[in-house]
Amino acid sequence: MERYAVRGRLLVGHQLEPGAVVVEGRRIAEILRAPRAGDLPDPVMDADIVAPGLVDLQVNGAFGVEVGEDPAPLRQLATRLPETGVTAFLPTVITSPAAAYRRIFDAFDAFDAAREVFGACPLGLHLEGPFLSSARPGAHRRDLIEAAEPGLLDTLLDGDALRLMTLAPERPGASERIRRLRERGVVVSLGHTDASWEEFRVGADAGATMATHLYNVMSPFLHRAPGAIGAALTDDRLAVGLIADGVHAHPASVDLALRAKGVERVALVTDAMAAAGMNPGTYALGSRRVLVDETSARLEDGRLAGSILTLDQAVRNVVRWTGTSPADALRMASEVPARLLGLERVGRLVVGFDADLVLFDGDLMVQATIVKGQTAYRREAM
Ligand code: ZN
Repeated sequence: MERYAVRGRLLVGHQLEPGAVVVEGRRIAEILRAPRAGDLPDPVMDADIVAPGLVDLQVNGAFGVEVGEDPAPLRQLATRLPETGVTAFLPTVITSPAAAYRRIFDAFDAFDAAREVFGACPLGLHLEGPFLSSARPGAHRRDLIEAAEPGLLDTLLDGDALRLMTLAPERPGASERIRRLRERGVVVSLGHTDASWEEFRVGADAGATMATHLYNVMSPFLHRAPGAIGAALTDDRLAVGLIADGVHAHPASVDLALRAKGVERVALVTDAMAAAGMNPGTYALGSRRVLVDETSARLEDGRLAGSILTLDQAVRNVVRWTGTSPADALRMASEVPARLLGLERVGRLVVGFDADLVLFDGDLMVQATIVKGQTAYRREAM
């Protein structure tokens, strides 16, 4: 079995400590705190920071492709996301016509069964919708949100691909829907919602454990009516997904989220769409046209349509804007999302866990990404 070491400041527990990770096959075989020459197998890769692989709970697309009814985009995402330090992700689909979901699931299953591509691991689908609030559609089609029949949930639960669902807690039948999803092991996140503070908390009572892209397409915080944002910020049962690109939320709002929720309850997400990692231009999101400039992706009427953020950039942004330590910022992109999904053996540097590792340089830029022991990305001129 192949055996090698990665040496640098390791993210273990809540901090960075000098040491080395010994990889054997697909797993972390040893964590050495003060390795001496002779302790380490050959070869040794050196980095400034060695972190667990990043886990993105919300990826609609990137590198010119969009998750949908065809397995090819999944292949493209799996191959290229390691460039951004991502070793596992949830391909994410916005509200779609009822008839399309079966084909979307089939595309995921076909990719999952083939496993012919080596790269970031798709963990299952995140469905944003269809049971959202038509008052807060964001870039989703309002007609499709309104058309979603309660019985559609049976179709979505037919199979094992569904891993996370975003829904609005105030929609009729939501609590029952949340309970059914939880029974099937699906994580429920509240979002695209016009809920009152009380209605949002009822969603948590029913078993929701997250809020989707905190601040965006949620009823606002008003001091006498704290709304979905107030509930998401103050309810300790809920973690939040946060798009730290400076466009979806002001840096001060990112700071507020960290202060209210703490590191353990913030999962950095990208909500990336097809233009992430590409040049400005015109791209597709579902059936709509999206105009992309240097910092944002917008529908023709100016509304945001997903981000062009990468998860490694989100980590750097949080460090720069909030004074969060690199260790904590990295945990919000690895340990926290892995825990929210209930993943075993992923998200931390622990002996016996999958050898999913990201090597960063001193500027927190990705040098190399390792998935299950194999190098999936290595920056040129290393
Ligand atoms: Zn959304």
